[in-house]
Amino acid sequence: MDASSIIRKTSADQRVTPNFLDYAGERQRFSWEAVGRELRGLAGAGGVNITAEAVERHAAGARRDKTAFRFLSRGKAARDVSFGELSQLTSRFANVLSRLGIGRGERVFVLAGRVPELYIAVLGGLKHGAVVSPLFSAFGPEPIATRVNLGAGRVLVTTDMLYERKVAKWRDKMPTLEHVLLVAEDGGILGSPTLTAFAAPKGGAAALGRPGGGTNIPGTLDLATLMAVASDECTVAATGAEDMSLLHFTSGTTGTPKGAVHVHGAVVTHFATGRYALDLHADDIYWCTADPGWVTGTSYGIIAPLLHGVTSIIDAEEFDAERWYGTLQDEGVTVWYTAPTAIRMLMKAGVAIPRKYHFPQLRFIASVGEPLNPEAVRWGKEVLGLPIHDNWWQTETGGIMIANTPAFDIKPGSMGRPLPGIDAAIVRHREDGTVTVIEEPDVEGELALKRGWPSMFRAYLNNEERYRKCFAGDWYLTGDLAKRDADGYFWFVGRADDVIKSAGHLIGPFEVESALMEHPAVAEAGVIGKPDPVVGEVVKAFVSLKKGFEESEALRMELLGHARKRLGAAVAPKEIAFLPSLPRTRSGKIMRRLLKARELGLPEGDTSTLEAGG
Ligand code: AMP
Repeated sequence: MDASSIIRKTSADQRVTPNFLDYAGERQRFSWEAVGRELRGLAGAGGVNITAEAVERHAAGARRDKTAFRFLSRGKAARDVSFGELSQLTSRFANVLSRLGIGRGERVFVLAGRVPELYIAVLGGLKHGAVVSPLFSAFGPEPIATRVNLGAGRVLVTTDMLYERKVAKWRDKMPTLEHVLLVAEDGGILGSPTLTAFAAPKGGAAALGRPGGGTNIPGTLDLATLMAVASDECTVAATGAEDMSLLHFTSGTTGTPKGAVHVHGAVVTHFATGRYALDLHADDIYWCTADPGWVTGTSYGIIAPLLHGVTSIIDAEEFDAERWYGTLQDEGVTVWYTAPTAIRMLMKAGVAIPRKYHFPQLRFIASVGEPLNPEAVRWGKEVLGLPIHDNWWQTETGGIMIANTPAFDIKPGSMGRPLPGIDAAIVRHREDGTVTVIEEPDVEGELALKRGWPSMFRAYLNNEERYRKCFAGDWYLTGDLAKRDADGYFWFVGRADDVIKSAGHLIGPFEVESALMEHPAVAEAGVIGKPDPVVGEVVKAFVSLKKGFEESEALRMELLGHARKRLGAAVAPKEIAFLPSLPRTRSGKIMRRLLKARELGLPEGDTSTLEAGG
């Protein structure tokens, strides 16, 4: 790259001294054991529990009254929850689980937008020793049911509206699901006059202050009512570092979604990366825009900021340029963690809006989830006054692995360098399972990480073979293609598989194809990611029709509607095209790569396995 395009950092750029100043030295001195010792562990039990570290450690100390979360509701009214209150609320939730007979290791699913109850359920579930699986609220009924079934969910925490729209009719397809705990969308904790209403167990349900009382849908329980009568004290489950904590579903090219199993010991990575990659300092006001249905929204939207005792802004609303700049200004955000799609949407909204706002407190911006264009990095510097720092990780890694950080120069377009404790390499992966590290710079290969960091996933639930295939010797193979330059910066090239990244969300083509195939008109379906300037890729489906069905605009609209109803807006295709037949390999697999090449007018590559006539 042209040296003039590097964004050089000097100490004058830093409003506070960055946590990570000496790249080589810090990496050399670093040990996971030493970071682990900075956390408290479970007093007396020798174990580790994410909520004990994230909440109890502060609630029992000087930060008891400090705001842990500032929840912004739709109208932007703010409700602050201190570390002390969070401790009580999460205990109440843990006690609700006890009362329902939910034991250690049992699965609690959470399906909600960014409402306070979601945060309480995630942290309360972990405190109880249950395994928590947050789901994205824009999923449709089918992805929800698939995941609850794969994870053998016993409890689902959701809102009354989401339940009626997405779960109720599918309930009998989820045989393990015993308890559905509902939150009222128009009330919940934000609707109560004071949070202390929660802390008054004697008052019962009425004390929750939601005018009109709780939800009342047959076959469900009202969470607020249960919380009101639960005690706000509990003993944190004595989980060990290797005990399962979170279950995050991710998508592959084929087959059902994969449940990446995470453990309580991962908290050591969340803590270290909060320090190095997000540069968290105790007095920060931090805003992570990710939804907790995706791993970023959990690791960095919930856990990491709490570990550092910082105040997090949680906005229940969806993207709106005016609102976002207003939030940066009004909340005095200092550290902002967002995503390339959001940055591109802000760029599209123009420069007139940011000019109306001032956010002098903002000192660090990071982004993750998809390639961040060099123009976006530079736009940050020009318009927001700060460059955007790209970083890289994935559901399986549980935490940030490669990052641009405050003290170091940015090469726009690069994901940065591996953090302390992380060894990354570009490797060549052979059919026989062996791996060679490519030492020369600027050569494309698969991005691999030396196994052993604490937040590494420990399994794909019930799928030992798929898990095993991710490893070769000491290396975890990420499935991403990348390059490393002579200065040790990593550059993303693309995915080695067919999964689609749309607005930062990983979408498995198989899940989309399966839903389309359920429509009586569809004979076969092939799904690709079509490049898009704002969301990275949009989901595009190609379908061929069964005999007796004719291509028509009306059928295309019907198929779009069918997919959207089943899969939800986040996963459903945005475009559908009809083809007389789809290209297949001789072994019968749809050649998505070829569909994509044809769509983009690119060379078709090796078509030697193409079935005649495809
Ligand atoms: P997920 O597991 O949903 O977080 O998706 C992980 C995938 O997102 C990675 O394997 C990459 O393909 C992509 N990804 C994450 N961060 C970046 C980044 N900074 N640049 C390019 N791709 C990224």
